[in-house]
Amino acid sequence: MECFRLFACCEELVCEIMLALRSKPDPRAEKRQVSARVLSLSDAKHLAKLPTASRGWPQRPSKTPAKPSPPIPERRALGRGHLQRRRSPHRQNAVAPCPILRHRHNLTNPHPQNTWAHPSSALAEFRRLHLGTCGCGDLANACAMEEIAIVGAGVAGLTAAWSLARQGFAPVVFEKSLSLSGRAASRRRGDVTFDYGANFFRLDNPVIEKLIRHELPTADLVEIPGDVWTFDASCRLTPGDPKQNAEAKYTYRNGISQLGRLLVQSSGVEVRQQTCISRFEQHGKRWTLVDGEGNDAGAFDRVVLTAPAPQSLEIIQASTMEASLKAGLASVLADSRYHRQFSFILGYQQALARSQPFHALLSTDSGCAVAWLSFEEDKPGHLPKGQGALVVQMSPAWSDQRIDGDRQALLESVTREVESLLGSDFRPPDWWDSQCWMMAHPAKGVDGDALKAGQAHGLYFAGDALHGRGRVPLAMQTGLAAAEAIKRSMESNQG
Ligand SMILES: Cc1cc2nc3c(=O)[nH]c(=O)nc-3n(C[C@H](O)[C@H](O)[C@H](O)COP(=O)(O)OP(=O)(O)OC[C@H]3O[C@@H](n4cnc5c(N)ncnc54)[C@H](O)[C@@H]3O)c2cc1C
Repeated sequence: MECFRLFACCEELVCEIMLALRSKPDPRAEKRQVSARVLSLSDAKHLAKLPTASRGWPQRPSKTPAKPSPPIPERRALGRGHLQRRRSPHRQNAVAPCPILRHRHNLTNPHPQNTWAHPSSALAEFRRLHLGTCGCGDLANACAMEEIAIVGAGVAGLTAAWSLARQGFAPVVFEKSLSLSGRAASRRRGDVTFDYGANFFRLDNPVIEKLIRHELPTADLVEIPGDVWTFDASCRLTPGDPKQNAEAKYTYRNGISQLGRLLVQSSGVEVRQQTCISRFEQHGKRWTLVDGEGNDAGAFDRVVLTAPAPQSLEIIQASTMEASLKAGLASVLADSRYHRQFSFILGYQQALARSQPFHALLSTDSGCAVAWLSFEEDKPGHLPKGQGALVVQMSPAWSDQRIDGDRQALLESVTREVESLLGSDFRPPDWWDSQCWMMAHPAKGVDGDALKAGQAHGLYFAGDALHGRGRVPLAMQTGLAAAEAIKRSMESNQG
């Protein structure tokens, strides 16, 4: 299997060399090729360390025949971005992104339709597309396409990318971390999966419901059984709001971050992970993105900024652009505030008993130390039978006072608080984990209408700050709105 992986990496290098030979010399293109090669080699090392199952690498027993490449029409049905991300008139000499590299970005890829089955079939696809042997007439269309960058691969950014890909654009998503889905975050520990950011999402918004239920694969979408009860400062537990409890709560069998991965896999959009964008440079109608190391990350016609508002503010403040535009955007973004919040995960080889039939407990008093407590074993597929894990989200006030605290010492305080809620059912955990979210939920949102001033210059904004409430579907909606605004602007330019 290791030889097989090395062979795949060699094939990618061959792809890039072939592309380099076909393109005319262009210093910027050469720079991109060099960084692509560096990425290839470092990714190869990284991939060699990852467990095979978490990579979407072909799980190929030697006797299983390689899965044939799907015929072209079927692939086009997956999303036009698949075939349309080719040379644009702005980059005649530039090297188009190699589809093999793009597939490799999908580190977990359980959706079979979009799984790269065998490196040589991907290479064949690459040859058909880049050496012009497929007879595909869509290449002419591709030349007319705008280049769009999206900063942030949270659910807002990836929903914007998904929607743009459906409309025929080929956006490039830049994500500073290695993972997809942002604060809709899951972690694995052995055979345990837990959601340590957003705990669940509801499908009460018909547009988002349609996207999740009908546009994305649903094989791993699971409903979380059980009600959310409430508690007050005296730790008195009461059944929660019946109306709220009547609404279904969802996550994915393999964690809520599967939502982000599905958006990428079903649209085929390119995500450049571990690329932190630090600033933009406005050059006429185009924007050059600069990464944290000062490298040119590419020039684009339009940029969608989806980082939490305080981080977007830092990018805008560091950027070079028209002074009045910069001042206007910065003053809007500076208005937003985010809560900080600790999540603790308390794991048990044998799940805790429960005196009442609740799935989760929600505080009704902001003075309580614990804001949310839920039983991760209730989520289908998250824990092996019999094991348990509590997700404990501490209140913003508690978290603010302890933001630099030693985690082991904080754990003791967390367990005391949980014990006062669960009483004799509680016992200390067998293992634990924690995360401090410096920007957990917007405490104060931004004026989304005021940020539209950027649109005339090709700058768009999305993310939960635009709704002023930390909710997965609301953040996704802002991504759809940004994509729609780009589409409308393109139509009015053409009209
Ligand atoms: C502890 C917690 C509990 C929550 N519980 C729920 C819940 O139960 N239900 C619910 O619906 N919602 C919940 N939420 C809120 C929900 O997770 C968020 O509202 C939603 O995920 C926000 O998505 P987003 O895309 O706007 O932002 P994010 O998820 O923050 O995505 C932004 C992305 O941008 C990236 N980024 C930032 N700066 C840069 C840069 N300079 N360059 C490149 N990339 C960059 C970040 O790494 C991140 O991936 C919870 C959140 C937290 C933290």
